[in-house]
Amino acid sequence: MASTIEHVSGDRRYFIRTFGCQMNEHDSEQVAGLLEADGMQPAGAPEDADVVVVNTCCIREKADQKLYAYLGGLKALKRSRPGMQIAVGGCLAQKDQDVVRSRAPHVDVVFGTHNVHRAAELLARAAQEGPIVEILTEAVRADAEAFPSALGVRRDLPHSAWVTIQVGCDNSCAFCIVPAVRGPEISRPFESLLDEVRQLSDQGVAEVTLLGQNVNSYGRDLALARRKAGERVRVRPLFADLLRAVGAVGGIQRVRYTSPHPKDLRPETIAAMAETPAVCEHLHLPLQSGSDAVLAAMHRGYTAERYLERLAEARRGIPDLAVSTDIIVGFPGETEQDFADTLAVVADAEFDSAFTFVFSPRPGTEAAAMTGDFVDPEVATERYERLRAVVERSARRRHEAREGRREEVLVEGPSKTRPELTSGRTRQNKLVHFAAPATLRPGSFVDLDVTGAGAHYLLGELVAVRATPARRERIPVVAA
Ligand code: SF4
Repeated sequence: MASTIEHVSGDRRYFIRTFGCQMNEHDSEQVAGLLEADGMQPAGAPEDADVVVVNTCCIREKADQKLYAYLGGLKALKRSRPGMQIAVGGCLAQKDQDVVRSRAPHVDVVFGTHNVHRAAELLARAAQEGPIVEILTEAVRADAEAFPSALGVRRDLPHSAWVTIQVGCDNSCAFCIVPAVRGPEISRPFESLLDEVRQLSDQGVAEVTLLGQNVNSYGRDLALARRKAGERVRVRPLFADLLRAVGAVGGIQRVRYTSPHPKDLRPETIAAMAETPAVCEHLHLPLQSGSDAVLAAMHRGYTAERYLERLAEARRGIPDLAVSTDIIVGFPGETEQDFADTLAVVADAEFDSAFTFVFSPRPGTEAAAMTGDFVDPEVATERYERLRAVVERSARRRHEAREGRREEVLVEGPSKTRPELTSGRTRQNKLVHFAAPATLRPGSFVDLDVTGAGAHYLLGELVAVRATPARRERIPVVAA
């Protein structure tokens, strides 16, 4: 999925095109905040921009083809707009480094995943000195200001913020490029995170989503570093502590997080979710495959049985829990029996929703070299359709089970698919469409009765407005 940040203000204007995941979306918010702190204004389209930043992703399929096609389109535009600058950042830039400028010499700045915070500075320098490629191989220090911060960003929903708690990943899933491009796990210090959440709350933010590649191992590196320095500290389940502490910040009414690794989902996290009223009843727990052989080949560190046990523990501990997942179909070597095992686990797990993907090799990953075991694309596509049918059945069942219930919904704004309706999210992260007066502002909390359900949404009837947002205006951009 690609997205854009398109806004307006000042003399020089910028446009950001983002490919990829929430981490990348949040990095783009940070770049937008930096450019605005530098006096730039957002533009509605690249044609109106003096600076175009392309934030790349190498996790998604055909990422490089999409990037170079997009950059090709910008070449003629740059010729017609003297002084226009193009910057390319993100994980594909990190991985390909000099390749970006050799394939697209009209690019002015290339930056990686470890120096997103320097994007504005690099653009200013490039305007004086010419093209710059700056890719850092070292990850940021834990106390560095370079963690993507929700305070210096430009976001579209002022009541809702992403907070990065950790960058990098210490795992080595065979299909994933993240450890290579984002480096080992580095956690942001606990107190600095809490300070940020308190400031967000002061600014009217009611919902925070804690972001990390493997949130459940949050803080492990911090504790190990203290032990190395001679302190006698226990590597405690810091993520559970963090959930409780963030949930206790006044004004924060909803806490979400993504993503935990199933092998690291600890009882303490489940208890913290259950016992902290602000933490929402939604768990995104990536399964990836239901076959033990495929899970082992992926280096996931759990079996299907262990996954289902953890899921059952979470459901036992957290009433009314909604569960979503990620599943890859056609991983190299996946047999019909492996796939049947996945279907059985998915049917058993009764997910509320699932992001399903057909395997496609990401250059630089272990799985990309397993060419002899690649699954025939037609077979993989057919399996994908069968899997989707099973997921949709359980999603619909779980949505229909909510009909007649009263739900607390955080209002997001006009529905993207049915503009005559308003959309919001329940605590279980379910999208709800409902008729609302035009005066109902995004960020309001409402009660509504669920009157209908589809596989991907609920329909509701407004019952009462519980609270309107603390602030009406957009949160001012803070210089990072
Ligand atoms: S846990 Fe696995 S899939 Fe997730 S970021 Fe780390 S290596 Fe990638």
